[in-house]
Amino acid sequence: MARPPTYMSLKQIADVYLPTRWATFRLLGFEAHRVDRITGMESGETALALVLGDVVNSPPIVRIHSQCLTGEVFHSLRCDCHDQLHLALRAIADYGAGVLIYEHQEGRGIGLMEKLRAYELQDQGLDTVDANLHLGHAVDQRDYVVSIQILRFLRIRSLRLITNNPEKVRAVLASGIGIAERIGADVPHNAYSAQYLACKRQKLGHMSGSSSDSTIRDNRTDHGVHLSEADGDGIGHGPEISAALGGNTWQMS
Ligand SMILES: [Zn+2]
Repeated sequence: MARPPTYMSLKQIADVYLPTRWATFRLLGFEAHRVDRITGMESGETALALVLGDVVNSPPIVRIHSQCLTGEVFHSLRCDCHDQLHLALRAIADYGAGVLIYEHQEGRGIGLMEKLRAYELQDQGLDTVDANLHLGHAVDQRDYVVSIQILRFLRIRSLRLITNNPEKVRAVLASGIGIAERIGADVPHNAYSAQYLACKRQKLGHMSGSSSDSTIRDNRTDHGVHLSEADGDGIGHGPEISAALGGNTWQMS
């Protein structure tokens, strides 16, 4: 993970209604400003929060989602981002109270073009972790400082976190915000994403347990097109946080 900045300010830019197929959310736009403690370098970034219902008086469902243009715009099958985004929005709508934070940390923080370079290396046989390392990046360059600031801005003290990523659990707990429940972000894998998801489990400690999506055919040999919406409702309730903290992937370092 990237080093947390010494100083960060967060400014709300906009607050609008956003009707979607799942619910009409409030869409909040934020600008964050960082100053690195060591280098003094300043940087800015933007993030969004889709908010539904009362998120203050009881723990809402929260998803901290990193942008994935290839998955979310083009419905790439190389990863599970598109399906996880829809899973989270549907879960929040069904529950009636929640927040989806959408932050621009494409490719685990290396940016879109570097992610595409990493895909080239993966096409040559490297896995997602080794590809990032080969390009001189950290395995995961994201941090969740802006997301935590947004949760604080929304006065959320406890939440139900949709994630398979132990780093996100760690970041929330380290901030002092409670996790009432972890909800698994499990979506069906396919022939293109299975290896990527297995690598995230094995090398990054992700707690996914997805099933196979039988609606997606492996077209790698015939280049045919036959894709169905892989928007399953496979919400799995994860283990209690207290139990999960006993596992070695959850230790604070
Ligand atoms: Zn993705």
